[in-house]
Amino acid sequence: MTRRIAELLRAGQPDETVTIQGWVRTKREQKGFSFIEVNDGSSMAGLQVVINQDVPDYEASLKRISTGASVEVSGVLVPSPGKGQRIELKASTLTVYGEADPETYPLQKKRHSFEFLREIGHLRSRTNTLGAVFRVRNACAAAIHQFFQERGFLWVHTPIITASDCEGAGEMFAVTSFNLKQPPLNDQKDIDYTQDFFGKPAYLTVSGQLEAEIMAMAYSNVYTFGPTFRAENSNTSRHLAEFWMVEPEIAFCDLDGDMDLAEAFLKYIFSYVLEHCPEDMEFFNQRIDDSVLATAENIINNQFERITYTTAIELLEKADRKFEYPVEWGLDLQSEHERYLAEELFKKPTIVTDYPTQIKAFYMRLSDDEKTVRAMDILAPKIGEIIGGSQREERLDVLERRIVQQGLDPATYWWYLDLRRYGTVPHAGFGLGFERLVQFMTGMANIRDVIPFPRTPQNVEF
Ligand code: ATP
Ligand code: MN
Repeated sequence: MTRRIAELLRAGQPDETVTIQGWVRTKREQKGFSFIEVNDGSSMAGLQVVINQDVPDYEASLKRISTGASVEVSGVLVPSPGKGQRIELKASTLTVYGEADPETYPLQKKRHSFEFLREIGHLRSRTNTLGAVFRVRNACAAAIHQFFQERGFLWVHTPIITASDCEGAGEMFAVTSFNLKQPPLNDQKDIDYTQDFFGKPAYLTVSGQLEAEIMAMAYSNVYTFGPTFRAENSNTSRHLAEFWMVEPEIAFCDLDGDMDLAEAFLKYIFSYVLEHCPEDMEFFNQRIDDSVLATAENIINNQFERITYTTAIELLEKADRKFEYPVEWGLDLQSEHERYLAEELFKKPTIVTDYPTQIKAFYMRLSDDEKTVRAMDILAPKIGEIIGGSQREERLDVLERRIVQQGLDPATYWWYLDLRRYGTVPHAGFGLGFERLVQFMTGMANIRDVIPFPRTPQNVEF
């Protein structure tokens, strides 16, 4: 049976006979024998393989091997005399599956820029950095499921195609089966959506929250974890057109409970990743951002700061520096403000609560003075907003009023309102941008480098 290299590096014993499969990272030919380093993606480090010239087809096989070639090697593990590894593999047989012509294979031993690597999105996964990213990303996903499953949350699968716009804002991708050159028109010469696939306009979802609320009103504690879409034309290092979101929804819960859960959640994920991916995290700390490990410890060991939006505005007004965007009660916080609070002032994740009613979504619970809603954003050093959440408006009359005030049509939210008509309860939830989390965890500067196949304006290759 083929063994995984990570497991061999950790636990492989001298004299064990093993078979490995993977891709060659380097080859060094000496007189009478050669070294190759083989990587199978299970760990950053590869396994060093020694191939003596008495191995069958030595000359012919070696000629076919260069960086990127795929091989299978069987042999026996021996203690390594070289530096940097405990064991190595002494080959007895060697099979080359596929060559990688060194004249054209784009990945060389040198460091490549992330911009260049994005152009070869089908090969960049074979690099050290992207390998570390995707192992950490996997560990984050596993931690998220484990966290919720341990607490009895049901993973619910909310739809990707939807007819409702969760935020009441634009920025959605349309889903249609019309021939766009010739869509059917009605008497008013508008597009006749009654003839479209779903009989009305449909979109890719921007959030699974509203449907998650339906499920929470039956199963108490649920979470979604799936792709979401935003057609926003923001070419930033923190925005994707397709990204993954984690959205727990908790019945019988207020904003304090929501914040407690979000804080425990982030701490759990960071601990999990430090435990499961120490080598990759060490790599990020050395090569990408030397504050990665300190940040992780900071998250795990410190209580998050909690302040109201009103306090945040006061602190920003007192700040001994000029901001590009204005600071004034009623205006939304910009990224520079968020980063000032989390990065410079408190130097740890900061939860800002109770935002002005008019800048937040209709479903957030109105405070008694009606000036603010029970919203909370968690701001992370370097990243800014990483989690956005709220206690939901559970009172039918208030919710109806808020929908109308925001210029939305209550009729399209009939089912959402029904949840308040039948057995309503206080409830709360939040959304975590999964790629923002992976960025935060790894120190990667650009969100395009923490998702295997980024979708951004003008870019949908691979
Ligand atoms: P921002 O102000 O940064 O655009 P937002 O207010 O639009 O964020 P929400 O609608 O609250 O964000 O979405 C919930 C979470 O999803 C955010 O906290 C963030 O982590 C993540 N997120 C939002 N938009 C994007 C995007 N375009 N790409 C990646 N992650 C995103
Ligand atoms: Mn946004």
